[in-house]
Amino acid sequence: MPEHRLWKLTWEECAEIVKSTAAILVPIGSTEQHGRHMPLETDAYVATRWSELAALEAQKRGLTVLVAPTLNFGVSWYHRHFVGTVSLSPELFINVVLEICRSLTNHGFRRKVIVNCHGGNAAALTVAINRFYDETGERVLLGQWWELASDILKEMMVSGVIHAEEAETSLALALGQRVLMNKATRDAFDRGKTVRERGYAWSRHAKYDAMFKGGFVNPPMDKIEEISESGVIGDATLATEEKGKRILDTLITRLADVCEDLGRREPA
Ligand SMILES: [Zn+2]
Repeated sequence: MPEHRLWKLTWEECAEIVKSTAAILVPIGSTEQHGRHMPLETDAYVATRWSELAALEAQKRGLTVLVAPTLNFGVSWYHRHFVGTVSLSPELFINVVLEICRSLTNHGFRRKVIVNCHGGNAAALTVAINRFYDETGERVLLGQWWELASDILKEMMVSGVIHAEEAETSLALALGQRVLMNKATRDAFDRGKTVRERGYAWSRHAKYDAMFKGGFVNPPMDKIEEISESGVIGDATLATEEKGKRILDTLITRLADVCEDLGRREPA
């Protein structure tokens, strides 16, 4: 199998492969608390492993897909009470992402997918890809696991997609992450109810979960220490490797599909 990890190639090998590359994946995670049962690297780990597996799936389809080194710091200010969490300001984070994209574009990698596995990065990444398009005319795509598998998550009736809960813990299990299931907790299970009980601004129409797609107003992030003792939002005790495998299979297939679609187009 040809090498799919950008950082393992020499610059000469990179120069040779750039023209035949259907897409380059840019994994983005965070370094932040994931309850008592998962490591700080969880989002970065999921982004990296998912990207690599999708690149290998794309190879099986005859495509060359590369994976860039993972950006393992993100926008995590609302987790910062928990020891070990490291956060970038949204402004700096946007600029880091733009610099990564500019560098790749300068060397001819013009079809990119940002593979984001941390919800707190989503708003800043949306700004970044739009700014990059305005600046360069190049349309970078943003892929996020809770969106790419949202129909499967609903079908499986997982108890929510917020933070370190059933779905994320299941996905981490399926990817071989270190998960201490004996320390998994159920905390702030109903985020909206918890917010209201703590006396913070609340509305029945606010969106508290990545799967809730009704009419809504958006609240800001909650400072996690104010609503959850363990750092989990949801029920991590319901997680299983089997559930995670179903989510993961969907994610690998669909991210490979995205690469295949990009590979059919001429560079912008
Ligand atoms: Zn996470």
